[in-house]
Amino acid sequence: MTRRSRRSGANPTMDMSSLDCMTAPALTLHEIADGVFVWLQPGGESGVSNAGAIVDDDGITVVDSLMVRSQWEPFAAAVAGLGRPVRRLVLTHAHIDHVGGSHAFPNASVIGSQQTSDLLDGEMPVVAYKAFMPAFTDEFDDLAEIGTRPVTHLVTDAAQLTPRVELLPANGHTDGDVMVLVADVDVLFAGDLCFFGVTPLAFQGNPATWADVLDVVGELADTIVPGHGPIGGDTEIRALQQYLRHCVAVARGDEPAIPAGPWDTWPEREPRDAINIERAALLARGEDAMPPAMLRAMGF
Ligand SMILES: [Zn+2]
Repeated sequence: MTRRSRRSGANPTMDMSSLDCMTAPALTLHEIADGVFVWLQPGGESGVSNAGAIVDDDGITVVDSLMVRSQWEPFAAAVAGLGRPVRRLVLTHAHIDHVGGSHAFPNASVIGSQQTSDLLDGEMPVVAYKAFMPAFTDEFDDLAEIGTRPVTHLVTDAAQLTPRVELLPANGHTDGDVMVLVADVDVLFAGDLCFFGVTPLAFQGNPATWADVLDVVGELADTIVPGHGPIGGDTEIRALQQYLRHCVAVARGDEPAIPAGPWDTWPEREPRDAINIERAALLARGEDAMPPAMLRAMGF
């Protein structure tokens, strides 16, 4: 991943205080900076993710597409309400809560990593989704019928997608994460490299790498739109990083348990603590395997 220096100086066209961002309303297309919109879902638990839209002269770049119809239909309708063509859909990674609504943007190029492309080309594990996210059981059959769109354009290196949108490949949450930087307004869509106020999930990630990558993420922009939870910045990144480092320390036997901290209020500590710690322990032994606690959570 390319390291950039933090943008210096205020953009005179930017009319955004951090307070506006932190209090961005949920379930509406909210403009946090000139032509940069977020669609935040409250709670941020499994299956409840965020998305965004960025306006360039030629049209819109959508960032992630939510999961089930009840989520993506209102989001896509609000994006259509901007009255501009949706040219591009960037998928930050392949997890279903970010890619399930890809058919809501049928004319857009679908842009993602090789890993995202490979996973979308595979069969959708609907039974596991139902077990892991029972709140959405009724909607997964609809999703399985609709399916997801394949990736049409691969992200292999950092790339300037449009005059405003830069793509930054990374890994940590998965092997194929992509972040979306809008440098002219100092906003980063971090995908699931950032969970704010919500326990992160590293069943396909690497908690140690992820914690290190967050040093770079924090340098990219002051305003971070996470994959789950409310908009944040450096404070939220540090809390996430500390939590992940504790998971690694417990996995190594350096700490007996995750100590008290800002994560005490995060939802889904159970079963995610166990999943994250087991994943770190597996990787430390050189085993790139699914943590047993995740298999149990998926009903296996
Ligand atoms: Zn994810």
